[in-house]
Amino acid sequence: MQTEKKHLARERLTMVRMVGIYCSAHHERSVDGLCASCRDFLDYAELRLQKCPYGDDKPTCANCPVHCYKPARREQAREIMRYAGPRMLFRHPLLAITHKLDGFRKAGHPRELTREQRMNSRKD
Ligand code: SF4
Ligand SMILES: [Zn+2]
Repeated sequence: MQTEKKHLARERLTMVRMVGIYCSAHHERSVDGLCASCRDFLDYAELRLQKCPYGDDKPTCANCPVHCYKPARREQAREIMRYAGPRMLFRHPLLAITHKLDGFRKAGHPRELTREQRMNSRKD
């Protein structure tokens, strides 16, 4: 249980770091560290994480058969990951490696989710 919570916390931190790397290379950042657009994306990604139907047992989003992101957000995520992914290895090697290992987690088929899990993930 404790390990699973650590997993989600690590996912959240990986996302924050990746958006930070991308934003610092592409945008004028505000005093709190991110531009408005990247802050907005991070808020969206955080909400998706909170509503993830897989809960603590989630796969990486890149390997998810549900993919709950809206198409434009999904494209934004791809762009951020494409740029920040390779750079993570040098700047945050431990997070990069554990994220790579998380990529081997198997996601259950969406039909295995309960109706409640599916409905909850669609809100917002
Ligand atoms: S449903 Fe899939 S894409 Fe959405 S947060 Fe969960 S793992 Fe990521
Ligand atoms: Zn930005």
